[in-house]
Amino acid sequence: MQSAQRQPNESSTRLLIVAREQQTSDRIGQLLGPDPGYELLNCSAVDQALRLLERERVDLLFLCLPAGELLENATLLAFKRCNSCLPIIVLDDDIDDFTGRRLLNQSASDHLPLRKLTTDTLQRAIRYVIGTKRQDEEIDYLRHADPLTEIGNRQYFYRQLLESLARIDSDNRRVALITVDLDDFRQFNNSMGHSAGDDVVKQLSQRLKSALDGEILARIGGDEFAIIFETDQDTDLRAATKELIGNLMMRVCEPYRTGERDPMLPSSIGVAFAPEHSRELDALIRQASQARQRAKQIHGCSYAIFEADKDSDPATQITLEPELWAALRQEQFVLFYQPRIDLRTGKIIGAEALMRWQHPERGLVQPDEFIPVAEKTGLIVPMGYWAIHRAGLDMRRFREAGFRYGSIGVNLSFRQFKDDFLTRTIRRIIDKNEIDPTRLEFELTETALFSDEAHVQSCLKELSELGIDFSLDDFGTGYSSFALLQKLPISTLKIDKSFVAGVNQSKDDEEIVRAVINLAHNLHKKVIAEGVENKAQLEFLIRHECDQVQGYFFSPPVPVEDFMRMLRNN
Ligand code: C2E
Ligand code: CA
Ligand code: CA
Repeated sequence: MQSAQRQPNESSTRLLIVAREQQTSDRIGQLLGPDPGYELLNCSAVDQALRLLERERVDLLFLCLPAGELLENATLLAFKRCNSCLPIIVLDDDIDDFTGRRLLNQSASDHLPLRKLTTDTLQRAIRYVIGTKRQDEEIDYLRHADPLTEIGNRQYFYRQLLESLARIDSDNRRVALITVDLDDFRQFNNSMGHSAGDDVVKQLSQRLKSALDGEILARIGGDEFAIIFETDQDTDLRAATKELIGNLMMRVCEPYRTGERDPMLPSSIGVAFAPEHSRELDALIRQASQARQRAKQIHGCSYAIFEADKDSDPATQITLEPELWAALRQEQFVLFYQPRIDLRTGKIIGAEALMRWQHPERGLVQPDEFIPVAEKTGLIVPMGYWAIHRAGLDMRRFREAGFRYGSIGVNLSFRQFKDDFLTRTIRRIIDKNEIDPTRLEFELTETALFSDEAHVQSCLKELSELGIDFSLDDFGTGYSSFALLQKLPISTLKIDKSFVAGVNQSKDDEEIVRAVINLAHNLHKKVIAEGVENKAQLEFLIRHECDQVQGYFFSPPVPVEDFMRMLRNN
């Protein structure tokens, strides 16, 4: 498959007949008659056919070897390598059951006796193998295409890159992996909305495609695209890649069109070469992405080619850890607040505190980029305490300003329960900052509950005695047991945003949302839906008596000053 795009449905079916004797093709031609639905091509030898397959579209191949000659599997494989979806029908009068089975096990689609062949059998065989082939192609397309941009998706990209890397040795090829993404796309998405974001991603995809000349293009993340550029070993890969990047740059630097606006959104490009930098898929992808991060440091559209001494290799984790420590010392973390709305009153009833990293060079870094590393390295423990501390200070400001609100949710990672001083430290933070514990809520995930049941249970008990509330985050994605749910002092379930996203789209997701609301109410717990992005979802949740909602439809997470303004106008 050269491209994940749908092939145009050309009308006639092209049959290639590979037979030493002209009689064979004549016979097939006679049987099919003057049917305009078929176009016949002939080759008298296998290598001639292989060459033709490289140039021309063929829908089905008939292979007829001279009597007495054995069909080698290598021959079938050679054809499949040229075109992996090509059905092959072997024509032979002397095929016994055993050989027949062997042929089908190898890669033949069918076998037919030439002499006894009738028009009806022949046409039926053709229709059958071509129907199967179309289905295969359709499934292949669906598995490998990105619905938004209609180019290949991440799976498609992996497969293509693996194939390109294999050709380094088999065909002396050289490969450049080029990855492209938009700078500050997340911010754009948050402020302009997801449909504007989708518009921009679609335009970027079209622009990249128009700059390419048949190279593989795929969308491998939200706003991240990958291009696989292959040359032979005699071409100067670096020079050729730079030329290609020049073409890309010209197109990605223009403003985008979304509704009334023409926003300028620069892109950054990162490149890694195989085999020069690596011949392994994961390493190459990482290197291209590291180069792209370096390119981002230069504002506006720019590109960088991987350089081992400039781009930190093995894992970002190792380089990120000291940076995170420094960030903690220098107070580079900030808490954003995302309001939670009470559906009975329509008013803000609280917020979730979400961490951001105000990086001196990279700007605002989102938690997906650093929380997982912090959890792996254990740094989440001090970072988590900082978050409670910061939220406590902010809550004091809310109180002093006279705002009325329910509670503030702070996320607690499973990893924080590994700290023996958890409850003692939280108690100290509360005392020191004069936090009202009844306004504090901790959001836990199911992973946290099950990591060490007895220990977690005793921590929760101790903290809930102070008046702290607990909610269960991302509910529906893990494995909660009802027994545990009832045993623990959890007052609220938060329906995971993936289910909310499916409301009005998937009956299954709607059923889950409904079931979680009922379950929560039966257990005398409150229920919050997160990730509410549109009115239809909101109406569904109101109809099914969800208690609270949180999501971009009302507000993305915002800095504390903005949240205070919202509380003031509440
Ligand atoms: P989470 O606890 O599930 O937080 C909700 C995430 O959903 C937030 O992402 C929020 O910005 C996002 N979100 C809110 N409304 C919508 C919406 O309408 N649509 C969509 N698609 N997304 C929405 P964020 O802020 O990037 O946080 C990601 C995750 O990072 C959080 O997921 C949480 O697991 C973790 N995290 C953030 N801050 C902290 C923290 O202080 N401590 C710990 N342990 N984890 C944190
Ligand atoms: Ca949360
Ligand atoms: Ca969540």
